[in-house]
Amino acid sequence: MTAKNLSKRDQKHIWHPLTQHKTHPNTLGIVRAKGAILYDENGKEYIDGIASWYTCMYGHCNDFILEKVQKQMSRLDQVVFSGFTHEPAIGLSEELIKILPRNQEKLFFSDNGSTAVEIGIKMALQYHFNKGDKRKVLLAFEEGFHGDTFGAMSVSGLSVYNGPFEDFFIDVERIPVPTKDNIERILASLEIRIGKQDIAGFIYEPLVQGAAAMKIHDAEGLDRILELLQQNEVLTIADEVMTGFGKTGTFFASDQLTTPPDIICLSKALTAGLMPMAITSCSSKVYSAFYSNEITKGLFHGHTYTANPLACTAALAGIELLCSEEIQNNIQRIIKSHEDFGQQIKTHRLVASIRQCGTIFALDLNVQTERYGNLRDRLFQYFMDKGVFLRPLGNTIYILAPYVILDEQLEKVYSTIKSALDSI
Ligand SMILES: *Cc1c(COP(=O)(O)O)cnc(C)c1O
Repeated sequence: MTAKNLSKRDQKHIWHPLTQHKTHPNTLGIVRAKGAILYDENGKEYIDGIASWYTCMYGHCNDFILEKVQKQMSRLDQVVFSGFTHEPAIGLSEELIKILPRNQEKLFFSDNGSTAVEIGIKMALQYHFNKGDKRKVLLAFEEGFHGDTFGAMSVSGLSVYNGPFEDFFIDVERIPVPTKDNIERILASLEIRIGKQDIAGFIYEPLVQGAAAMKIHDAEGLDRILELLQQNEVLTIADEVMTGFGKTGTFFASDQLTTPPDIICLSKALTAGLMPMAITSCSSKVYSAFYSNEITKGLFHGHTYTANPLACTAALAGIELLCSEEIQNNIQRIIKSHEDFGQQIKTHRLVASIRQCGTIFALDLNVQTERYGNLRDRLFQYFMDKGVFLRPLGNTIYILAPYVILDEQLEKVYSTIKSALDSI
């Protein structure tokens, strides 16, 4: 088997995610990765400017994590998690609870961000069902993104890609994200709406909406919404699949809010990019509605690979790194560095606005929208040609690099963005 021509061989049997194969038949064969660098089949290097969809925050093929997972692999690979338990899951639960918002008590394992969200939704619906309440509606932000399974799609902002499935969605109502200008209006209409006592839960991406092109919203406004909902028995579900594990400058975005969520969804960087796994955590208040002599009040949800020992080991190692002085210093370094870059770039004639939340940096281009579809692809190709992997979303360019990215690599990301803007 040769590693050459991966793209050609790929085309024979593989169906890729989020891809129209007729118009976009080509893929890029990646053979190796280390730290912040991806290597393609021709040996060309790319700086992974989005940490492979916000997963490998401690760098690709991190030796510290690899060593722990390799050891675990030869001890216990997989075991049923219904009726059995194991050290990696327990160790992870003990360390994760320490860094989660203080009210979080119980962890439910699954496989990816979408399943973490499904479980969060099911927890909220069944919480009320178990209590005998008739609450069947979910509340969500406009333009939110929560995953691609049915429940997760339902609570995501309507997208053109969801057309075939919309008739099958669960009952969801949407509210705008808070700004200084609209918050009073949002609260006033929510006050009226919650009077019907039919809303089970509210799901939101705290502070940063990833798929909506790293839109950052007002923490104070979000806090006021959460407070109002919690006073009215609406469970709050923080989808921290993207924002979790240090990206916003704190362990979790929820740490920057005064109202802790009832339920939190975690995945992506949870396992440091090594293996798929997810966790839905909740408070004792939520858990206690399921804890009963009646079997049917339990949460009857489970996936075959739940709490896989290798994934738990990777997650535990990831948390150890996240809490280390080295990674914490790196996070501060990136925050500072992005701030400096923001100052330099914000006056560029093509930059409409910049925004930053912790290590997440984004800029919007002030270009005619009619040109942007084509421009987005040209920008992407320009970055790749220069050896920088960034995925512009519409007319937004954003950076979410692994924490271990070196200063000179970060400089190259910045200078490539600048030269791209200069060449438009
Ligand atoms: C990526 C993402 C998801 C979905 O996670 P998958 O692992 O891709 O299913 C859900 N919510 C948010 C906020 C995400 O960024």
